[in-house]
Formats: sequence, structure tokens, C-alpha cells
Amino acid sequence: MAEATTMGTKADATAPAGQVFPRYEQTFPTLTLQEIARMRRFGEERNYRHGEILFETGKPGPGMFVVLSGHVAITQRDGFGHVTPIIDQGPGQFLAEIGQLSGRVALVDGHAEGDVETLLISPERLRALLVAEADLGERIMRALILRRVSLIRGGAGGPVLIGPSDSAGVVRLQGFLTRNGYPHHLLDPVADTDAAELIARYSPSPSDWPLVVAPDGTVLRNPGESELARAMGMIRELPRDKVYDVAVVGSGPAGLSTAVYAASEGLAVAVCDTRAFGGQAGASARIENYLGFPTGISGHALTARAFNQAQKFGAEVMIPVEVKSLDCAYVDGAFGLKLDNGDVLRARSVVVASGARYRRPEIENLADFEGRGVWYWASPIEARLCADQDVVLVGGGNSAGQAAVFLSGHARKVHMVIRGGGLGASMSRYLIERIEAAPNIELMFNAEVVGLEGTKDGSLERVRWRSRLSPEESTFDTRNLFLFVGADPATGWLDGCGVMVDRAGFVVTGARDNVQEKVQDKKSQARQATALETSVPGVFAVGDVRSGSVKRVGGAIGEGAQVVAALHGFLGDTAKPSL
Ligand SMILES: Cc1cc2nc3c(=O)[nH]c(=O)nc-3n(C[C@H](O)[C@H](O)[C@H](O)COP(=O)(O)OP(=O)(O)OC[C@H]3O[C@@H](n4cnc5c(N)ncnc54)[C@H](O)[C@@H]3O)c2cc1C
Repeated sequence: MAEATTMGTKADATAPAGQVFPRYEQTFPTLTLQEIARMRRFGEERNYRHGEILFETGKPGPGMFVVLSGHVAITQRDGFGHVTPIIDQGPGQFLAEIGQLSGRVALVDGHAEGDVETLLISPERLRALLVAEADLGERIMRALILRRVSLIRGGAGGPVLIGPSDSAGVVRLQGFLTRNGYPHHLLDPVADTDAAELIARYSPSPSDWPLVVAPDGTVLRNPGESELARAMGMIRELPRDKVYDVAVVGSGPAGLSTAVYAASEGLAVAVCDTRAFGGQAGASARIENYLGFPTGISGHALTARAFNQAQKFGAEVMIPVEVKSLDCAYVDGAFGLKLDNGDVLRARSVVVASGARYRRPEIENLADFEGRGVWYWASPIEARLCADQDVVLVGGGNSAGQAAVFLSGHARKVHMVIRGGGLGASMSRYLIERIEAAPNIELMFNAEVVGLEGTKDGSLERVRWRSRLSPEESTFDTRNLFLFVGADPATGWLDGCGVMVDRAGFVVTGARDNVQEKVQDKKSQARQATALETSVPGVFAVGDVRSGSVKRVGGAIGEGAQVVAALHGFLGDTAKPSL
């Protein structure tokens, strides 16, 4: 095979960049002339004069640019007006990061250095290119992901949070942005002059922490997740009058799997999640039993790949967007999903993948310390807060075991409070062995936490606990309590729609006897309920929310794949799943 010809590049520009970007060659590959020729049918030529802007931080990106001639300078801008050069891209190089797959806002600025000729490929055509040109698509996709990783590392294009690193608001917003793979910076007002000046100007009260500075200079005081997401352009307006083939509620493993399979088979898919992609699996420091990952993989890493994959196939993922209720009247051939901002999302079928929400045990004063020392999640953000301290962790299941092992690598000591008399019945053997091997995990069986006490400033200071075999109470001095005591199905939003749930609230599927007579059309009436279909035809359920499901990542992902065949059946789509 003839060797591919590479277009001329500004070679000396790669030397310093190679040191800054650890996987430079993969992050900023140079395309050959032949490759660019193959890409031409996906784009259109656009030319820019010296100094003209190709894309701007905080504004929706027009797609991916391939530089045909000239150079484009990529710079990072923050809300304080600082501009930092990132890289210079020349002929044969392409300009985009993962957000451009779905037309999200740009996280950096790009402007022409001299006159520039480009090929602009819109988000929709970019997705078509990735699918049609498999080898080239793989290189481009890898580059887009690595670029986002670099932007996250540098905090480029995201908000600047200003506040003490252990304040409840900082931990909450850092958790939200990190779980959603969104770049951000944290500045300590004591150490940073920009932050100190802003504090002097806004004089925030304790409840205002953190101040958040968006790249356009807007300042928010301790915003909620939705407010922050809106300010950053993370949520887009719902397309008017659009009816999706399927609306997926939840972007945990089951919802993401549904989205990937359904979108790859040509269905128009919308996915909503109230918090972040990954669901409960996102809380897992290391999943060791998912097929194909012999060394284990963190739940965040696994589901981040699925999140990118869903976008590659064109699924519209909306986060943070909570579905408040479901209207099953099927007006004009579509279900109506009422969203938290009042909009109604319309879809011809619905997949319930809303999983389960952590349980809040009966502990005195619990609500006072949530987000201020009481955690339901053990990620590096929480681990940082308990470095070299004693922590208390409640629970005896696999999720508690994983969290205890993870935290034992950061905390001085993990006191594990377990209601039962042993771990054998509730935890996998490999986790029990790791716990036994960790010198700084102390197991306390037949025990329960009963109350919490705090400092004057509202932080957790002490945990009261007792043995279930005696009424006497004891205390632990600790600033951090982790609760992993199981989860209840997240099905409140289905109330009033006729979707049948079992005694514990999990959604019943597949049982013919349970299917209501309230069916919307003749075709549905004639059909048997498929294995994953609920009592309302056209509404399906997958993963942890489903009655009788195995409550494992592998099970959730398998059900997501399986439900797509049933969706085709319901939608009367003749397209067969591609294998
Ligand atoms: C700490 C921890 C460790 C674990 N480790 C393992 C492991 O090692 N191996 C394994 O196999 N399993 C593990 N599990 C279990 C596994 O994570 C779950 O079985 C799996 O995540 C279930 O996936 P799901 O998509 O069905 O639901 P979930 O993961 O619960 O996702 C549901 C999603 O729906 C969203 N949602 C809920 N209601 C709404 C609404 N009204 N509107 C919009 N969005 C909504 C939620 O925000 C959430 O993101 C672990 C669980 C935990 C908590």
C-alpha cells in the first residue's frame, strides 16, 4: 500500500505542545491528504481572514473544522479576563472536542492567525462521518475524548469556583461538574488575588459560598446545579414540536445502554437525567465483575465511555433535567414527559431507567449534616476531605465494601458499622478478603448509628452509635460519616400513569395478567406484553428500577440492549437490529 501523504504542518509548534499534552500524537493527529479528501463530502469550505473568530467560549460550536491552509490559535479564557494560549493548529489538523458531537458550547476560543481555509463539518455530519469512516472515525473520536480530558485537567472553559474546599457548596458543585466530565477550577480566596478581589467586591455571606464565575464574567452565588448548568450552556432548549421515538429516563448503565443501542439502530432518542450520567455505578470506585475488564474499571470511567458513545450515535442527552411526571394519555401518538423546567418532552415510547435512590436511615439530626460531613458517595472529592482522619461508614453490602476499601487508602481509620452479625450473606467474597486484609478498617457488627452532633459552624463533629445487643450508646469523634445502606426505586414520577409497581415500589414488567386493559390502540391491544414492557403498552422498564432485576451493572446493560428489540416491535419499525 502506498504510504499516505501528510500535509505540511508547523512542525516546531508541536515540540512544546508535546510536553504539555501527554498523548500529543493521539490528541492532535495530523490527517493525510487522502483522509481529508474522504472527509470532504461531510463538510463545506469556510474561509477566515486574519483575526476572525471560528468559535468562542460559551457559545454553541458550529462543528468540527479541518484546517486546509493557514493556522488557528486556540486559547483559553476565564471569567477574570485571563487569556492563555493552548495550542496552534495548522494544515491537516482538526479543531473540535467531544462537545461538538452534539453541538454543545465551545470551551475554548479559536481565531485565525493569518488567512485560513477550513472544511467545516456540522455536528450531525460529524456523527455520520464517525460511523461511515470507521478507522478515521476511531482516530477522531479518540482525539475528541483526549482533548476533553486535557480541558478537564486544565479547567479550561468551565466555571471558576471560589470558596473553602471543604464548604458544602464547593463539594456539591465540584461533585456535579466532575461527575458530568465538565472542566472547572477551584480557587482558594486566601491564596489567590483574583479570588480575594472578587470576595471584596461581592462580600459574600457564609450561605453564598461558593461564588461561581462563568467564562463570560457572570458571577453566581452558591447556585443550584440547574442554575449553574444553564449559566454554562450545558442544557439546551428542547427542539420545538419534536417527537422522539423513545424517551429514556435515567442515564445510569441501563439508560445509557438503551440509548447506545437504540440510537445506533436509527431511533430518535432523548435521555434525561436529574443529576449526572453513570447513576449508582458512577459511585463505584472500582467495578471488578463487569465482563472484559480484568483489572477492574471505575464506574465513572465505564459510564463516561458509554455517555460519549451515546452522543456519537446521536442520542440527545439532557443533564441535569428531572422528569417530574409521565402523561400516558398518548395524545397524538406520543407520551408526554413533564420536565422540571415546565417543558414537555414528547416521545412515542418511554424506557424507565430511573434506577434507585440511596436510602436515608433513621438517624437523629441526619438532615442537618448532609453535605456537611454526611456523604452518600465516596469519590476522590470526598476522600480528599478525610485524608488522615478517622471516618465512620455504615453498611454491609457490596457498595459499602467498595467504599470502605477505597476510603482505607485515604483515611487514617475506617470504622465500619454493620447491622448484621457478619458480611458473608451480603458482600462478595473478594471484597470481604480485601477488608480483612486492610489494617485500618475496623468492623463493628450488630451495631447502628443513632445520632449526630456538630460544631457551632454546623460541621459534623461526633457520631453516636450503639450495639444492637445493648442499649448503651458510645461516640466516635469524626468529621465524616458515609452511608451505604441500600436504595429505593426512583418511581415517584410515574404516579398516576397506571404503571404497575410491586410492593416495594419496583416496576413490574412482562406479566401478561398485569397488563391493563387501558391500551391506546388496536395494535397494542393485540400484542402480548414483552418481557421488559410495563402494564402500560409502550412504556418499558430496565435495570435496577425493574422488579426482579439482578441489581448489577452487567444486568442493567444487558436489559438496555434487550429492550431495543421490543421498542422496534412497539414502534412498528421494520428495521432489524444490526448485529
Ligand atoms: C457504590 C456502589 C457500587 C456498586 N458496585 C457495583 C459493582 O462493582 N458491580 C456491579 O455489577 N454493580 C455494582 N453496583 C450496582 C450498580 O451500580 C447498579 O446495579 C446499576 O447502576 C443500576 O443501573 P441503572 O441504570 O438501572 O440505575 P441507576 O444506576 O440507579 O441510574 C438511574 C439514573 O436515573 C436518574 N433518575 C432517577 N429519577 C429520575 C427522574 N425522575 N428524572 C431523570 N432522571 C432520573 C438518576 O439520577 C440516575 O442517574 C454498585 C452500586 C453502588 C451504589
